[in-house]
Parts: sequence; structure tokens; C-alpha cells
Amino acid sequence: MSSAPCTNVRVPAKVNLFLAVRGIRDDGYHELVTIFQSVAITDQLTLRIEGRSELLNHPAGGRRTELSLAHDAGSGVPTGPDNLIVRAAQLLADARGIRMELVHEHDPVVGVRTRLELAKRIPVAGGMAGGSADAAAALVGLNELWDLGIPRSELRDMAAELGADVPFTVMGGTALATGTGTGFARVLCRGAFHWVVCAAEEELSTPAVYKAWDDYCSPSEVEPDAVLAAVAGGDPEALGAALHNDLQPAAEVLLPRLAADRKALLDAGALGAVVSGSGPTIVGLAADAQEAQRIARRVAGRFPRVLITTSPSGGPVVQRC
Ligand code: ATP
Repeated sequence: MSSAPCTNVRVPAKVNLFLAVRGIRDDGYHELVTIFQSVAITDQLTLRIEGRSELLNHPAGGRRTELSLAHDAGSGVPTGPDNLIVRAAQLLADARGIRMELVHEHDPVVGVRTRLELAKRIPVAGGMAGGSADAAAALVGLNELWDLGIPRSELRDMAAELGADVPFTVMGGTALATGTGTGFARVLCRGAFHWVVCAAEEELSTPAVYKAWDDYCSPSEVEPDAVLAAVAGGDPEALGAALHNDLQPAAEVLLPRLAADRKALLDAGALGAVVSGSGPTIVGLAADAQEAQRIARRVAGRFPRVLITTSPSGGPVVQRC
């Protein structure tokens, strides 16, 4: 029997403090230099084993499980095989010889059921790696629930197959990533930073933003040194001035309003404001927690959703339930 028939995973979103696009590789992927930092806006994945749970790891049970997924994220997020959570579960099941069958949450349980429920708080298609974070939660949570004993570093390496942001979301913290975003090194960060996160009504698809970059932008040589120094020194003013994102002009080609939205954040007192990843979420850096509240109040009428959060956050947090 599994030692943990119910597991809860809280997994944070990320912001890119720095993102430079160096160019396009022959395989079509973009060569990046980026600094990821996890922020304390979290999705929660609850994972349960139901039915004859002793069969999951019993040789006579044939190591098979049904898997169902439910979420509260609305119709824009799939529940079927396209959901990154299901893809992560399939990857783990294949790697460990578990036969997994995707079923509907209301189907009757036959044998063993792994039931997953997602409470979504990270803005969807907002450039905050929400889907990637959920995939990381599935890898980390199922590793625990299914008693697989895979080290976090191995899960991180497996995660690259699911998408460029997934390895970082398995680890959390602050990291400098290169290549397509998958090879990375931890970055020293002192203190905490306070953010005003402004979600947009619209969604931006990551491939569409990269296509706009291909059409309108050229490779940049800008280096991450100023951001690295600012986070090492825990200096919000220096970080505000150093925030950089080469995808920002591309996102603003698709949603020109984003430039005015960033200016509104700066006018409201933010030390810096930048499009997060491929957008359209904009993050503004505040001097401290009180200032973040003040800025959030000033811009509240302009955005459908304004959140206050801190960084860095850790990686996915697993708890038995
Ligand atoms: P990134 O910052 O990694 O580029 P994002 O935050 O901009 O990603 P997501 O929230 O991951 O974007 O959503 C992108 C698309 O992925 C959604 O429109 C949705 O169709 C699909 N998707 C698949 N699985 C999930 C999931 N678990 N949560 C959210 N979206 C998902």
C-alpha cells in the first residue's frame, strides 16, 4: 500500500527578472539567457489514491492506475491529455512501468484510482509558468503518492521533456537559465522583494509572442550582471532599474496597451515594471510591503486582477493530507 494515500502540493508561479533572446537555433527554439525567480502566488494540487490502493505497487496488481483530473480554472484549461498535469503523470508512469489510464472524474472506480484536483490561483496564459508549475506539482506529488523515491534533481531533468519552464518550477528559488531555458544554475538572492502583479483580461500564447519577436525584433547582447548584483545585494531599487525582458516589445506588438499599463505602474510608484515572460501579466517592483499595497490600490481600476506577492519563494511544498 502507498504510505501516503493523500498528498497536497503547493507550487509557486515565476517571474523572469531578466530575459534576453540571443537568437533562433536551427531546430526553431530560441536561445535564451534568463533569470527565473519564484513568487508566492501558488496553485494547489491535491492527489489521492482511491480503491484498492495496495494494488498500485503490488506485482500481482500489474502496477496500473486510473487517473482523473478536475480543476477550478474554467474552460480555457483542459482536463484531458493536453493538460500538463496529465502529461507529467504519463511521463512518470512510463518511466516507472505503471500503466495509466485517463478517466473522467465521475467514472466509477475500477481497481486503483489516482484522483487529482487542482485549485488554480496563478493567472492562466499570463507568462507566469502556471501550467509548468502544475506539471512540477504533479511530478513531485505523484513521486510521493506512488512511493517512487525519485530524487528532486532527477525529476528536474525529466521535466525538461514537458516544457522549458518546468525544470525551474520543480526546483523554485532563483536561477539563471540558458539554452532553451533548461540548463541552469542557482543564483544567490538576499532578502525579499515585494511585487504588484497585474493580470490582463486577454491571454497571450507563448508561441505567438515568439513569432512576433521573430518578425519584429533582433537578437540582443544585453547581460544579466546588473540583475545578479541587485538580487545578491537584496537591493530593490537596483533591481527595479535592471529588470529586463526582450520579449516585452514582442508582447507589446500584440497588445499595445501593455506599454501604457507599465507606465501606469511606474507612475504609481513602482521601482520598475516589466512584462512577465511572454506576458501579458505585468509585474511592478515595490520598495517594501506597504508601498506594494499603495501601488496596488492606485492601479486597481486599470486591471481585472491585481495581486500582491513576495519573492523569492521556494520550490513545490509537499504535505500529507
Ligand atoms: P509560460 O509562462 O510557461 O509561457 P503561461 O503562464 O503563459 O506559460 P499557462 O498558464 O501555462 O501559460 O497556460 C498556457 C496554455 O497551456 C493554456 O492556455 C492552456 O490551454 C494550456 N494548459 C495546459 N495545462 C495547463 C495547466 N495545468 N494550467 C494552465 N494551462 C494549461
